[in-house]
Amino acid sequence: MSEGRTRRAMPRALFFDLDNTLYDHRRAAREALAEVYRRYDVGATGTAVDEFARLFFEINQRLWLGLAGGEIDVTTLRDQRFAELFARVGVAAPFEAPVVGREYLAVYLERSYPLPGAEEVLAALAPLLPLGLLTNGFTDIQRPKIARLGWDPYFTWVAVAEELGVFKPDAAIYAQICRMAEASPAEIIYVGDSPVEDVMAARQVGLRTVWVRREGPEVARWAAEAQADYEVADVRDVAPLVRSLVGVA
Ligand SMILES: [Mg+2]
Repeated sequence: MSEGRTRRAMPRALFFDLDNTLYDHRRAAREALAEVYRRYDVGATGTAVDEFARLFFEINQRLWLGLAGGEIDVTTLRDQRFAELFARVGVAAPFEAPVVGREYLAVYLERSYPLPGAEEVLAALAPLLPLGLLTNGFTDIQRPKIARLGWDPYFTWVAVAEELGVFKPDAAIYAQICRMAEASPAEIIYVGDSPVEDVMAARQVGLRTVWVRREGPEVARWAAEAQADYEVADVRDVAPLVRSLVGVA
């Protein structure tokens, strides 16, 4: 079968990324970071809360890539991100990085911020195709988050990277969801916000990729290389796109 014909295969399943695609992870994380900032009087270092959050996301992303590459484990990631962050801004108060990490996650879990229109998209598409969720997070964070969102009924498959033992952008995780859905890569539509973890990694395996292009530094850096099959500016735009792909007007 030619590349062109493979690309036109009828979709048999659709997988979504969760954080920053359907769920406003950044908002929840920022609020949890603001609480950590307050508790540890980070303002006394002269670092503004926005800069504190920016540094966290930068350190966190680098550590996540280390986790995906097998260089560090989950516990190291959870502890080290705050050890590095506090060292970077020069927090003087005594602290234990694992405790800070747990405090951050406890506040994070009190929040629940679905992105506008996300649930409507799931409700619109679930009757057309079996839906799956593929999230890169930790089981003890992502499972309660999904339960609180109440979205389980929309999903045929819910895959959490920690449970699969492989993390995005390792392409092996996309091969796993093909097996899960018993479909070939070209028959799976994959929707995500990250050019590196979602689009480029899923494309490597041959999934049909939809990039929810939410502007930010990472997006600007990778815009030229992402080369998704489809790009949308908002997750709400995924519903009409998928309807046209499956031939439903
Ligand atoms: Mg994401």
